[in-house]
Amino acid sequence: MEFLQPGSLAEALAAKAAVPGAVPIAGGTDVMVELNFARRRPDVLLDLNRVPELTGWSLRDGKLRVGAAVTYAELTGERGVTELARHLPGLAMAARTVGSPQIRNRGTIGGNLGSASPAGDCHPSLLAVGAEIEVASAGGSRMIPAAEFFTGVKLNALAPDELIVAVWIGPSAGPEQFAKIGTRNAMVIAVAAFGLALHPDRRAVGTGIGSAAPTPVRASEAEAFLAGALDESGLWDSREGLPPAVVTEFGALVSAAASPIDDVRGTAAYRRHALAVLARRTLTWAWADYQRDVAGEG
Ligand SMILES: Cc1cc2nc3c(=O)[nH]c(=O)nc-3n(C[C@H](O)[C@H](O)[C@H](O)COP(=O)(O)OP(=O)(O)OC[C@H]3O[C@@H](n4cnc5c(N)ncnc54)[C@H](O)[C@@H]3O)c2cc1C
Repeated sequence: MEFLQPGSLAEALAAKAAVPGAVPIAGGTDVMVELNFARRRPDVLLDLNRVPELTGWSLRDGKLRVGAAVTYAELTGERGVTELARHLPGLAMAARTVGSPQIRNRGTIGGNLGSASPAGDCHPSLLAVGAEIEVASAGGSRMIPAAEFFTGVKLNALAPDELIVAVWIGPSAGPEQFAKIGTRNAMVIAVAAFGLALHPDRRAVGTGIGSAAPTPVRASEAEAFLAGALDESGLWDSREGLPPAVVTEFGALVSAAASPIDDVRGTAAYRRHALAVLARRTLTWAWADYQRDVAGEG
């Protein structure tokens, strides 16, 4: 196996253009499992660990740019970067549920997107906040909305010569929540997961469903219903309590947006039920935060 170790993004993109079959490796927490279990035997590995352009985060033009090589530990603030967690509360909550400290130290947001698993824990939050994925090839770069990034089970919209460079997200203007159900509390693949973002600035609601469809998906009808219900009753302004019927209907619409399957981790029926519960729960938490005017708390 050939091991390429570019020292810049330009070198990495040139290598990907020359050998489109080269498999990028960032934290290696998915790639090494595949190699160890002989599920994959690439001729060429493209190590991204020495590409400085993929690391770190910054605020640019009012948007947050999170490099593809940013780890879960950086997202959560485990390594002391609490400011990032404050900008991305939903994603930080999701990152806290990932694997173990070892996995959170190595695993990256770009690797999660690269694997594009329906159970990837970043995805519901990225959908809920309307993130965009910056990808690049030697020919230039383009932005892909998160909702268009996942194209099938473990498939994404990357062309063979492209790499994920960064994730772009508008700064959090409202409360965000994430919740997941697994067979135990840690080191577990989600049986169902849900991300929610309230956007009071534009009176909109964002959602993301994980582990309950072939790809991570938004619950668009639930988003429109909740935003409309909040608008009609003047609740965005009054911040009064949510009518229970609104919470229940939101849960039902989220559940209806999924297309789950039966598998070793749970049945389709359980996933639908769990999603309704997760949706009601996260909405109740997010609304309580909104009432207390808590936004952007990591
Ligand atoms: C014990 C264990 C527990 C885990 N727990 C969780 C969990 O709770 N939740 C969860 O979501 N995941 C979990 N995972 C899966 C994994 O840790 C995550 O998917 C992680 O985000 C992968 O990141 P990485 O940097 O290690 O990716 P890598 O393994 O390096 O790469 C993953 C994929 O992305 C591609 N890739 C990486 N970077 C780029 C890039 N910049 N451009 C294009 N393609 C790229 C690779 O080619 C590969 O296909 C777990 C894994 C293990 C081994």
